[in-house]
Amino acid sequence: MAYTVPKLTDYSDAALNRAEEEARSAFDAELMAVSAGTGDIGENIEIVRVRWLGREKGIVNKQIPDLWLKPAPKEAKRSVGQVLNRLKRHVEIYFHPVIGNVPPIERQPFFLELQAVDITLPGARRPIGAEHPILKTSREIVAVFQKLGYSVAEGPVVETDYYNFEALNFPPNHPARDTQDTLFIAGQQAKPQRERLLLRTHTSPVQIRTMEKLRPPIRIVIPGVVHRNDPPDASHSPMFNQIEGLAVDTNITFGDLKGTLDYAMKALFGSSVKTHFRPSFFPFTEPSAELYVTCFICGGSGRRGSDPCRPCKQTGWIEVLGCGMVDPNVFEFVKDNGYDPKRVSGFAFGMGTDRLALLKYGVDDLQLFFQGDVRFLEMFG
Ligand SMILES: [Zn+2]
Repeated sequence: MAYTVPKLTDYSDAALNRAEEEARSAFDAELMAVSAGTGDIGENIEIVRVRWLGREKGIVNKQIPDLWLKPAPKEAKRSVGQVLNRLKRHVEIYFHPVIGNVPPIERQPFFLELQAVDITLPGARRPIGAEHPILKTSREIVAVFQKLGYSVAEGPVVETDYYNFEALNFPPNHPARDTQDTLFIAGQQAKPQRERLLLRTHTSPVQIRTMEKLRPPIRIVIPGVVHRNDPPDASHSPMFNQIEGLAVDTNITFGDLKGTLDYAMKALFGSSVKTHFRPSFFPFTEPSAELYVTCFICGGSGRRGSDPCRPCKQTGWIEVLGCGMVDPNVFEFVKDNGYDPKRVSGFAFGMGTDRLALLKYGVDDLQLFFQGDVRFLEMFG
């Protein structure tokens, strides 16, 4: 039987509580009946809304004010007002805009959820987050070097031409300076070239920034995001991650470089991997090398069973990073802070975190890391 607002004769707190509770349960029961019933739920809910909230005859907007509040003795008006406000809130919440925006046909679950709170049911399970595979890889690499006494250095992603190129010994006509590769900030033609802003193309500017701040000896690793004007595909992305390292002291030799990186690769990929250095070129190191490790997928055999091993292109070796002895020209830029190239020497190395994550997890499309598809990412949770 539908609820009708009773006249009140007793305005004691106990009586008001009873009246409030009765009205509240009546409203709840009406919504439950609509949610569980047949017919157009949206339409039926609208009928309930008008019955309770209608301006002309609505129970909480008109009937209760008329039947309870108006005739209430002066000393009870305050309590009746409070009862009325609580009832109003209780009713209005079910017609909140969030639910109101849901198409009528889809409203039922909301109402059922609001109505039928069964405290014996297990609570709503919120998925627990996990480290992104690239962040995880980055932290693992950083941890290996931290154990060797390296500290973490960071720097701005928007850099000046000076820190990104000039101080790192990139000659003015070096191809990396070409707009084909570098994303420059627009509208800076009026500025001198060295002050123009760009998105850093490597984490190397942090090497210079750190040497400006700290006197030698230093040992740092620099994890961070870099940008290049590469269209996204399975192995390229305009945004990717690097980790660089720099060690400067007196008497640092190429032997220290080899020993350090050999140790680090074994710590990362297992003690059985072998390392191999091949001559290369980078503007800011001399001599420079590329470091290869025995393929940790096929164990160096170049084959997986009867199939060729794709990650190492059947060579049994995988290139993991570039490295070299810091070019004395680079030290000239920070000479005044104790980096006299006649007194100090150092080595630097840099690797692509994303590429290592691809290899490590056997993922064949770099874009999967950046698309934010939870179905992919939760495999690493
Ligand atoms: Zn292989």
